[in-house]
Amino acid sequence: MLPKPQIVNLPVYQPGKPIEEVKRELGLEEVIKLASNENPYGCSPKARAAIETELSNLSLYPDGSAAELTEVLAGHHGVNRDQIIFGCGSDEIIALITRAFFLPGDETIMADSTFSVYKSNADIEGAVSIEVPLQNGTHDLQAMLGEIGEKTKAVWICNPNNPTGTIVSNAELISFLDQVPANVLVVLDEAYAEYVTDPDYSNGIKLLSQYPNLIVLRTFSKIYGLASLRIGYGVGQPNVIKLINQVREPFNTSRIGQAAAKASVTDHAFVSECREKNREGIEYLYKQFDRMQLSYFPAHGNFIMVDVKSPAVEMFQSLLKLGIIVRSGFGKYPNHIRVTVGSAEQNAKFIAALEQVLSGQGARV
Ligand SMILES: *Cc1c(COP(=O)(O)O)cnc(C)c1O
Repeated sequence: MLPKPQIVNLPVYQPGKPIEEVKRELGLEEVIKLASNENPYGCSPKARAAIETELSNLSLYPDGSAAELTEVLAGHHGVNRDQIIFGCGSDEIIALITRAFFLPGDETIMADSTFSVYKSNADIEGAVSIEVPLQNGTHDLQAMLGEIGEKTKAVWICNPNNPTGTIVSNAELISFLDQVPANVLVVLDEAYAEYVTDPDYSNGIKLLSQYPNLIVLRTFSKIYGLASLRIGYGVGQPNVIKLINQVREPFNTSRIGQAAAKASVTDHAFVSECREKNREGIEYLYKQFDRMQLSYFPAHGNFIMVDVKSPAVEMFQSLLKLGIIVRSGFGKYPNHIRVTVGSAEQNAKFIAALEQVLSGQGARV
């Protein structure tokens, strides 16, 4: 059996450690997971009700075209129905884009560091990833432009960027889009868009009519709190969406996912409440990090990347023993951990654990 040569040495994606596993392995009663940017407030009560109703239809295939959800979202974003495609999380939309567009030897440009799923899918297709270093934790759009060549198929912009949490401004983004050749796809991953409160942030969906080569990714996994149901979407021009649709599996989203997502879109109160509490959490964490003299990147999503002034992998292990799961292992940032903004209580427990570890290590606090 000969696999595709480009996949032979591919690593398997390492997700945040599951709570159950940590409880079992360490014999802990309480474990707080701040590793996967999940919503500490769960999902909208309207989504729960929709899920319960849908339980009587489990034997039925979903609507592969997600027509009702498409209708609601098209209205929500002010786009046409043929501009939206759903995936098993926006992760799947990323995979489908590479499947539809990338040939072996094509080039694709992304930041270093950014969401690892862009590169892993490009690798699977045999495309070459050109990784452009971040500047102060932020996409260097000018340097990324400079890398565009004849073989470039797509440029990935993660805004806010995972793992650093930074954003590119509306003006920077527009100047970039104005300069990208029309035959190069720009994938704007806005998984955390609903969390952003900075007036300099652009809603990529509003830019679609001016830039036919732009596709915007959104998800129900983050602020909508539906990560387990695996539903995300892409919004773009009908011709781009049609091509991606042609390589989509027929039933890639579930009935329950579609129903929950549809009920969530219209629960504006839930979304704004989560956004506000997240902001309060960020302000609290900023204050604590300042007090502890730890530097961090400006956080625009529901997570913060902070410099713990010691190897992040060790900090990860030390916090784990105290029942707090965070994320480490960001190549360019060996001393930074990424922590999800939790509830006020979770944030306080994280800070207490962090202080305990730092003082134990004799680091300056
Ligand atoms: C979480 C995340 C996604 C996708 O999540 P799904 O659960 O697959 O929708 C996409 N991009 C970024 C940057 C993310 O952080």
